[in-house]
Amino acid sequence: MDVEQFRKAGYAAIDRICDYYTTLQSQPVSSSVQPGYLAPLLPTQPPTQGEDFSIIAADYDKYIMPGLTHWQHPSFFAYFPTAASFEGILGDLYATAAPHPGFNWSCSPASTELEAIVMDWAAKLLGLAPAFHNACGTGGGALQTTASDSALVAAVAARERFVSTHSESDAQTPLNSLVIYVTTQTHSLGLKAARVLGLQVRALEVTTEDRYALRGETLRAALEEDLAVGRKPFILMATVGTTSSGAVDNLPEIQAVLADYPEIWLHIDAAWAGIALCCPETRDELYLDAINAAADSFCTNFHKWGLVNFDASTLWVRDRLTLTRALDITPPFLRTAHGDSGAVIDYRNWHLALGRRFRSLKLWFVLRGFGVQGFQAHVRAGIKLNNTFNALLANSEVLQLITPPSLALTVFRAAPKSTPNGRAGAEAEIEKEKDGNELTHLNALNASFFARLARRPDLAITQTVLNGVFCVRFAIGAARTTEAHVRAAFEVIEEEARAVVKEDLEARETATAAVVHV
Ligand SMILES: *Cc1c(COP(=O)(O)O)cnc(C)c1O
Repeated sequence: MDVEQFRKAGYAAIDRICDYYTTLQSQPVSSSVQPGYLAPLLPTQPPTQGEDFSIIAADYDKYIMPGLTHWQHPSFFAYFPTAASFEGILGDLYATAAPHPGFNWSCSPASTELEAIVMDWAAKLLGLAPAFHNACGTGGGALQTTASDSALVAAVAARERFVSTHSESDAQTPLNSLVIYVTTQTHSLGLKAARVLGLQVRALEVTTEDRYALRGETLRAALEEDLAVGRKPFILMATVGTTSSGAVDNLPEIQAVLADYPEIWLHIDAAWAGIALCCPETRDELYLDAINAAADSFCTNFHKWGLVNFDASTLWVRDRLTLTRALDITPPFLRTAHGDSGAVIDYRNWHLALGRRFRSLKLWFVLRGFGVQGFQAHVRAGIKLNNTFNALLANSEVLQLITPPSLALTVFRAAPKSTPNGRAGAEAEIEKEKDGNELTHLNALNASFFARLARRPDLAITQTVLNGVFCVRFAIGAARTTEAHVRAAFEVIEEEARAVVKEDLEARETATAAVVHV
């Protein structure tokens, strides 16, 4: 392809992208292809001769498009949002137009310098303390691929700090006595970090009454128990907004406990909910003060609720030296005068790989395109839509809230009217069910409720299990979702819930009648 052919194909590609977004709403949300659909449609080898791009582009529409699940669809309420923006698309386009591996400052000075600047912009947007800003010189932030990478990077830094401060006094401490602390609600990133690093992991229990949040006393008891038998907890991965239910670990209590154990690194995984810190009114409920006072590292994903196209996970650390000491391996061919003098950031020492994409460009474009107010308006709109959803749910005869809504996430299940709905005390009722057959029964009912929802082409939604309770999650945040989409989704959900509750009632009546006849 030469420049003029690229110009033509490029304009056509932008036209296709625009058509995609204008017709998206009328498409089914999820793909209906079966596993293995693609291989029979494509040749088993690359073509011998190069092909014309118009044929390649047509095949994209024909073969790839049907296999896409549309995360940008306004009726996508599954998993978590991946709110993309045109600014983000353009950022990626510009970045890939002048590709370079960005591993140190001299690779492309703009790449490093822009990243350092926009990470400070993002920190200020979220209210993170100056200690986390690159400008302060001791802390700082870097873009990572995902929250999982961010957690792994944090664990590597934490291990470095722990081992370097304990090796003399505690020379006998073998690496395999180190333990990563998570909770039963922590994202699998905790287990994965432990597996990659070959370390133990302990998942602390959380309760329904505490709304699945880690409490200080649970942490303290675990620490005392582990330390007494020679295990060395060295990092706690606390969550602000768990994936399952949006639970926020009790950071003020955790901060108080960790004040007695200063060697333990506190990593905050706020992959989904952290974006909401851009709105000052959420900062108390998300414990921003405790984050600023006590966290050693903090991560949120701008590629979830934050309008930046995947991938853009932001990780900040309070002490950048610990991080770079853990990851800096500089062979002679990577040495530069600027790097050696400490005058510049060499971002290769802030993440796992050597090379890195120019992600800061899309973050810069998005933050400028929306401005703080536009960004806040997007987050507030999601929270408001979730309030609308909850108002509808509160009046439902067949739906029950499982735990109070978290920002733009609601967890609920199908249940006949007799069960309490969202009142204080609902958690205790749910706990009580566990003693009898009622929970098993409701779990089965909800599994078939979810199976019905999963078959619907007009929305996408996911399930979860919270301490043994099968539930359904409704996650708002796609950039194009409006109140009409939320109301339409609620109607579908309620209709399916009514159907399963009715079936269930009929089955129970038949069973009772059978018993009477015997
Ligand atoms: C989505 C999510 C993750 C995983 O994010 P990746 O960036 O895909 O690794 C981790 N933690 C929480 C709380 C999440 O919601």
